[in-house]
Formats: sequence, C-alpha cells, structure tokens
Amino acid sequence: MKHPIDYDDWLGYLDGDLDQVGTARVREHIGHCSECRSTWDELLEATAAMRSAAREFAAVHAVGANEVRSGRERVLARIRTLESSPSLESVAAGELTVGRLRKLQLVVAPVCGARTAFRLIVAAVGRTPVPQSAAAWLVFLEQLTDLTSALCGRSTARLIWEIGNSLP
Ligand SMILES: [Zn+2]
Repeated sequence: MKHPIDYDDWLGYLDGDLDQVGTARVREHIGHCSECRSTWDELLEATAAMRSAAREFAAVHAVGANEVRSGRERVLARIRTLESSPSLESVAAGELTVGRLRKLQLVVAPVCGARTAFRLIVAAVGRTPVPQSAAAWLVFLEQLTDLTSALCGRSTARLIWEIGNSLP
C-alpha cells in the first residue's frame, strides 16, 4: 500500500503548519491506514513525553526568556540561509545515524517546532568536521547543544545533551 505522507508532511502536521490540502490528505489517510495511524500515535506519544521532560528540565535549570530571545535572531538568520533542507537520511553519516537524529529531533520539536528542530540538526551536522570518526557523535552533540541553546534555550539544550549521550 502506498502512503501519501512524506517526512515533511509529518513534521508540518505535528507543528500544525501544514497547508490545508496537506492537512486534509494526512487526516484522511490516517483515518483509514492503520500503519500511518500507529506512526501518528507514536509521534504524539513521543512528543508528549518530551514536552513533560522539557518542562522538568526548565524547572530545575531556570532559563531567562531574554537569554533565549537574544540568541534567537542570530541563529535563525544563519539557519535560514541554508539551502533547501535535505532529508535526515541524506545528512546521516557514520555515527550520525538517521535513528539517532530522529530521536534528537523529537526532543527539540515540541519546544522549537519540528521544522526548526530539523534545521538545527542539519546545521549541526554541517558543523561536524569529521562525520566518519569515532568522536563524531560527541562533536555533533556539542554543536547541536550549542545551536539549540541559542535558539531554544538552555533547558532544551541540556535535554539534548543528556539524551544524546544516552542513545545507544
Ligand atoms: Zn499509510
């Protein structure tokens, strides 16, 4: 069976910023496709779990709203200059597996929006100089934590760091 929902559609639907036609297509399809329905349920579940984890972190590590705002424009400007976004599959390499990247994206998505999370990951991969080396994952995590901190606040960045270090 063909599933007319691509990765961008899922992200857009999750963020609620998919256009009307796309939204209707996704809604109609998950209404009768059990496979995509369970993908959607998983996405919702993961998002809810990450939201509550992010809230806990925010309570423990007080983050100033000004601090978040101040870095936002600078990083956004850099991310917006990226060429059309490649898929996670195309940026994955060596230790930067699609599975790991997706998990991190699900951590950032509830806080910053799914598209921003995607762009942050692409930017961090771009700033990881040696994607095939054994240390690449840590270099990548540092870059992603740095970018996430500037754009989405330190509590989310800490969450990324903790979860990224615990991924198998
Ligand atoms: Zn389907």
